[in-house]
Amino acid sequence: MINKQADLMNKIVSLCKRRGFVFPSSEIYGGIQGFWDYGPLGVELKNNIKQNWWKSMVQSRQDVIGIDAAIIMNPTVWDVSGHTSAFTDPLVECKSCHHRFREDHLKENKCPDCGGLFSEPKNFNLLTEVYIGSTEEGKKKAYLRGEITQGVFVNFKNVVDSTRIKIPFGIAQIGKAFRNEITPGNFTFRSREFEQMELEYFIKPDEKTGNEVFEYWKKKRLDWYLSLDIRKENLRFRKHEDDERAHYARKAEDIEYKAPFGWSEFEGIHHRGDYDLKNHKLTYKDNETGEEYTPWVIETSGGVDRTALFFIIDAYREDDKRSWLAFSPKLAPCKIAVFPLLKNKKELVEKADSVYKELKKDFATAWDERGNIGKRYYAQDEIGTPWCVTIDFDTLKDNTVTVRDRDTAKQERIKTDELKQYFAKKLKI
Ligand code: ATP
Repeated sequence: MINKQADLMNKIVSLCKRRGFVFPSSEIYGGIQGFWDYGPLGVELKNNIKQNWWKSMVQSRQDVIGIDAAIIMNPTVWDVSGHTSAFTDPLVECKSCHHRFREDHLKENKCPDCGGLFSEPKNFNLLTEVYIGSTEEGKKKAYLRGEITQGVFVNFKNVVDSTRIKIPFGIAQIGKAFRNEITPGNFTFRSREFEQMELEYFIKPDEKTGNEVFEYWKKKRLDWYLSLDIRKENLRFRKHEDDERAHYARKAEDIEYKAPFGWSEFEGIHHRGDYDLKNHKLTYKDNETGEEYTPWVIETSGGVDRTALFFIIDAYREDDKRSWLAFSPKLAPCKIAVFPLLKNKKELVEKADSVYKELKKDFATAWDERGNIGKRYYAQDEIGTPWCVTIDFDTLKDNTVTVRDRDTAKQERIKTDELKQYFAKKLKI
């Protein structure tokens, strides 16, 4: 079983590299641990994830608005938020080989690399330091943000003043975060640079409302993953124990995914109480009642990279003939591929080219004329393209094309002038 899971992970990593989803960062110089580059298909997949998230969390709601804060902030933010003192993981070092590990991730109390004994654990701060300024003497220490969250809190007043939005409301954001992880690994799962998608939802302090809003967002977030066709049996909630909760959380639950390397955090839902706004000395004034108070915050915090990775793993299928990614069409990097049956028949290529150009105006569409049709189908299956359109000799006679479905491999004939409508309906746009 363990070998099967490791084998699956190897297949995913190799597929991602071979087909242009994910490459090791700066690979030609030996790479750099914990950093990854997204290739042509990876960037499309990530963009689709972010667009779907933004639509569901911001654009389709009246009570949520978005911002895009800077990665580097005044370093005081991180002192006040507690990150310079409490954003730590317990680090142990092997006394023999000097390899370092996160103590809470170890299964045994001896070094997994050489069996050696460990040093006493010490708290290791995950913030990444940078130095800003144009002269050596004048350079000031700052940090690459360790979470995107603080950018929302420090803009709380700006948002309320500029929009007049009223509590309860949320501020959403998507952006890069950086953590000097002790042991990056499991492919992109634990990286040192990654992207987060977060919502901070502000409410009037009240235990009952807090619990209800917490439960509401738990359900919403689970439903979002399910709406993108992830397998239900591979998701679960896990409550944080009292001693594992982050320094800011009153209550925390993770949505976990059953990854080949074990159940792992997909997204966290946190009840942050008034921790952050109180630290930043920010309050909210209800202009109707005149009441002033420090709102409570319910947060949903997910990762774009983990979403991309888990959706690829979840979509992976194989049989004795082919492997395919059964992505939801909403997430598929490429929606349609267009082929002329033969590449040396001018009439077929010209007709296919006009179909391709027409579809490309509205959908992410690829072109392929290499090899035989079977190989082209398999190449598109492997990257999760839901539909392939083939222009053949019948097309020239009756203006119909073959549309082949990725999951069932079934084919049907559709009129070329109905193709746009046909795909729009399938994609529900
Ligand atoms: P973990 O326990 O895995 O270290 P965490 O509890 O510290 O994660 P949060 O601080 O709750 O994570 O971050 C919110 C989300 O950001 C996570 O659910 C995950 O999707 C993403 N994330 C956090 N750290 C990383 C990382 N090192 N690489 C990729 N994504 C990450």
